[in-house]
This record gives sequence, C-alpha cells and structure tokens, in this order.
Amino acid sequence: MILEGRVHLPFEYAAGVAASRFLTALRDECKILGARCLSCRFVWVPLSSFCPRCGRDSKDILEIAPVGTLRSWTVIHEQGVHRPFPPPITYGLIQLDGAHSSMVHRILCPEEHVKTGMRVRAKFSEKRVGSILDIEGFEPVREANG
Ligand SMILES: [Zn+2]
Repeated sequence: MILEGRVHLPFEYAAGVAASRFLTALRDECKILGARCLSCRFVWVPLSSFCPRCGRDSKDILEIAPVGTLRSWTVIHEQGVHRPFPPPITYGLIQLDGAHSSMVHRILCPEEHVKTGMRVRAKFSEKRVGSILDIEGFEPVREANG
C-alpha cells in the first residue's frame, strides 16, 4: 500500500557572507554583485564565496551590469505549490554583460516575443526586502539598431 501526502517544511538558514552581501546590494542599491576569480579570471554572478569553476575563494567583487543576453529559456504552464508567480512563467538563463556565468530569472514579456539571444535588463522591485525577487525579472531591451 502506498499513501500519498505532502510535507510542508518551512525553514530559515543563514545566507552566509557572500550571499548576504549580494542580497544587501540588491535591496539597498539596486546593484548586482559578482566576482572575478583571482586564480582563473572567471567572472560569475550572483556573488558567492568561491569560484564555481576552480573552487578558489580569492576574488575581486565586482558590480555587474544589469543588462545581458538571454541564452536559453522555458515556459512553465502548470501551477506549482511553491512557485511565487501564477503560470505561465517564463524563466530564462541570462548572461549579464561582463560575466562568464549565467543566472536564472523570470523573463518579463509575452512568450511569443521571447527569443534566445535577445538583450534584457533587470527590473528591480519598488519594495525590496533582500531577496533574489528584489529583481522582478528581466525585460527586453530595445537596441538602437534593432
Ligand atoms: Zn577560478
């Protein structure tokens, strides 16, 4: 016999030094922080305590441009238990200018207008609380030539 159920397990944990600095910069300054590894020169965002490529913790902390390129995306049409937004939700893999890594966030435009390679810009929430959702999502940017 198999019984189905759900476990609701709210929890809190310390974000740590690097993530706290990243979230504080989002909340207080609308700035996106990343880092450049002093060993392999990899630039990553969001800021974390060690290089995701080589694992070293020596780094320069950088302000990363809020503008980048949509590298990939998908649309979720089903309602999820813990999703913060109603479907459909477009999630994108965004490579901010100057960064080697990409970050996942919401894309703020209708699915029919989303294109891999399009330029996007972070839209910051008016009420920020120290969460990745202090960025509401990324909106398309109209380039001068397109
Ligand atoms: Zn590295």
